[in-house]
Amino acid sequence: MDQETLENGLAGSASSAKNFPGLDDWRQLNIDQQPTWQEHPDYTNVINELNTVPPLVFAGEVDRLRKNLAEVAKGKAFFLQGGDCAETFEGATADKISARVKTLLQMAVVLTYGASMPVVKMGRMAGQFSKPRSSNTETRDGVTLPTFRGEMVNGFEFAEEARAHDPRRMVQGYHTSASTLNLVRAFTTGGFADLRLVNQWNRGFTSNPAHARYESLSGEIDRALKFMEACGADFDAMKTTELYVGHEGLLLDYERALTRIDSRTNQPYDTSGHFIWIGERTRGLDDAHVDFLSKVRNPIGVKLGPSTTADDALRLIDKLDPEREPGRLTFITRMGASKIRENLPALVEGVQASGAKVVWVTDPMHGNTISVPSGYKTRRFDDVVDEVKGFFEVHEALGSFPGGIHIEMTGDDVAECLGGSDPINEEAFADRYETLCDPRLNHRQSLEIAFLVAEYLSR
Ligand code: PEP
Ligand code: MN
Repeated sequence: MDQETLENGLAGSASSAKNFPGLDDWRQLNIDQQPTWQEHPDYTNVINELNTVPPLVFAGEVDRLRKNLAEVAKGKAFFLQGGDCAETFEGATADKISARVKTLLQMAVVLTYGASMPVVKMGRMAGQFSKPRSSNTETRDGVTLPTFRGEMVNGFEFAEEARAHDPRRMVQGYHTSASTLNLVRAFTTGGFADLRLVNQWNRGFTSNPAHARYESLSGEIDRALKFMEACGADFDAMKTTELYVGHEGLLLDYERALTRIDSRTNQPYDTSGHFIWIGERTRGLDDAHVDFLSKVRNPIGVKLGPSTTADDALRLIDKLDPEREPGRLTFITRMGASKIRENLPALVEGVQASGAKVVWVTDPMHGNTISVPSGYKTRRFDDVVDEVKGFFEVHEALGSFPGGIHIEMTGDDVAECLGGSDPINEEAFADRYETLCDPRLNHRQSLEIAFLVAEYLSR
């Protein structure tokens, strides 16, 4: 971190933003998908504690991300977001975090080469501990309990005690996010991110005969690196990188308590993560989530499902980006492979006509979830790829910039999504299906998506 950030961007650790105008307006509005824990004996203590803990991210970093995303909005950089559907406390181990960071870095190298552009890298990490659910309850063998809402709210185990909403879990979520971020910062600045090393890992991926079709691209990257080395390029600068973190800002108790006033600008920043998005189920225009996130300076994302109208998109822009500031607002479309070509054009055209410069990202996961007869929730790799292709086709036809991809992925060898060149089939689910929520692309499937997108971008 540079000195300027340390001196100026330390979002007022002393100022918890109490009574800051507008930051509590959401409390008067309709709010969906929240825990019922206000009566819990520890609720007030937890909120007081979170009001005073150090920020997880710094205002200066958040501002830098907004500038980087402004480059994406202008078509000069590409945005990569990836990570678990829901992180778990137990999963915050060095091995799992490093595998995920490694996979993201590998994808980013391929995309950088394919797009010939900088890639803004972000983990769905260090805060992705809560989930919106379609039902409040779950019934098994005649027993009905609250649904699992992510480990920051309750436990996964189907037992009364585990499923009770417990605000103390927010404190554990905060500390787990802090240790995750600590490791992410160490990995990205301590030599692990060296471009030459990352490319060697990719050579490992393409040496698998199943991935032979990607070998020429990884060979080209290899030669480009050797060429740069021969020319005396500054490899010290390529040993470190920047990896931002983002999560769905679902639990407004947590997001509000981690909001701080920046000492430089006197503006509020949600210091729980660099980037916060609003989910498809909580993006009501007059509801609490849109109101609260309209008041903080972080770059904001909004997930847009297949029923979104151009008018919805324009009104979200008016609320969340009234100044029309490139980099402030990212629309993450998640239409489903069968709908994107039909439903996306109207949104893009409407936004283009308004003159706003949003970042367009595709989430090819959430519109393509299916259940197989054995009961598992899964996604077909081919549907994921098809939605990504549809996203590129629509933007190409309309002359707008397809700014990035948002995927649910892991660095591990899990079996949760079907297909890929080294295919996963249903039989593997019994042993290697690990997710507590939605199915993720495994390490190889994630890299394959990156190679496919890079092929597309380099045409
Ligand atoms: C998610 O990103 O895990 C999610 C729930 O997405 P959406 O809001 O798009 O359904
Ligand atoms: Mn999900």
